[in-house]
Amino acid sequence: MNTAAATLPETPEPARAGANPARLLLAPLTYPLAAAAFALQFTVWMALRLLSQPEYAWVVLAGIVYVFRGNYWLLPLYAVESFLLVQVATFLFDVVHFVLHRMAESRSRLLRAIGAMHTMHHRFLDEELRIHDELRGANNTHHVLPEFATHVIVSLAAWPLLGPIPVARTLLLEVVTLARFFRAGGNDANHVAHPVVRATRPTLFVDTWYHSLHHVWPSEYYSSINAGFDRMFGYGCHVRGRRVALAGDAGVGAGAFGAELARLLARAGAVVTPFADGELRDLDVLVIAGGASAWRDELIERFRLATAGRRFPVEVWAIGGDREFAASGRRWYGDERLYYRHVVAPSGAGAGAARAAWFLIRRGFRYVPVDAAGLGLLGFFKFRFWTR
Ligand SMILES: [Zn+2]
Ligand SMILES: [Zn+2]
Repeated sequence: MNTAAATLPETPEPARAGANPARLLLAPLTYPLAAAAFALQFTVWMALRLLSQPEYAWVVLAGIVYVFRGNYWLLPLYAVESFLLVQVATFLFDVVHFVLHRMAESRSRLLRAIGAMHTMHHRFLDEELRIHDELRGANNTHHVLPEFATHVIVSLAAWPLLGPIPVARTLLLEVVTLARFFRAGGNDANHVAHPVVRATRPTLFVDTWYHSLHHVWPSEYYSSINAGFDRMFGYGCHVRGRRVALAGDAGVGAGAFGAELARLLARAGAVVTPFADGELRDLDVLVIAGGASAWRDELIERFRLATAGRRFPVEVWAIGGDREFAASGRRWYGDERLYYRHVVAPSGAGAGAARAAWFLIRRGFRYVPVDAAGLGLLGFFKFRFWTR
């Protein structure tokens, strides 16, 4: 018996558009276009960030231009270069961060000893998000200063390429950040003993909620400032050991898409169970495919209430394709109480679409277009800015 279907309150027929073979043919473009979407969002975010920085930041930059006899007309270019330099330094630190984690698990005693430097950082803020004040000094010497040194080395290495002005601005920024960190007694926003961890709003950048998840599940969420590393290597969604149920059309065995997604999740270490209405409170991830939006919204709301007392955010992955689906998704997208992932897939989507969806989800994507790449990319902006 198919438990998934049997326990559902009359799953309505999905009102999705019919499969369009031409759109499915475009599916391989999903990956390069996902990268393009990331780059585009990154550029917009950078522009907003630079435009909203306080005036004194421009005055300081002008001062640096004066000292190094730069060209004042190139001020915006220096700002962009300096911004990108910080992002690259961060990315390289994230690579080091990842390698330190692997070293800590190595068989070689020497590598383990090097990896232990970073383990100290995780002991300082442990997996229950408790801060161990007695380790604060050790955290500063084993983690904070080496991270600072990595940024400084990368910045200096960029000097021959970018010239002194962007490098000087970046170094000044790093020093001011470090000084503020020590003035605050060795505290920063990413390391807080949060009693409850909220879902990060959809963004390409790391906030306190995102980094907290790295401390709770240290084998995922390695990124420290921008999410580039996790997006590139697939560490942006933790499912290992978490209970996942597939409801609606995604029910295990109900269609190639659901079956493949269940297989991929199980392979990633998730505990995949058939959907049972009474067990919502025990779930960590609820996957919903198809169904009318009223049914879907009601199910998500019940799941949210059943898990409202949780310390760490649960996830909802909704799969659909029609206009009603977009409107319902817009309601949940960006909700701070759960990670909502909006998977746009045509009806009749098969195993390939499930693989594309999992590829993007594990990279932290919240809008997951697997219908047709180019259209999917445009669809994001429509979904984000025009859907009511
Ligand atoms: Zn940390
Ligand atoms: Zn770590």
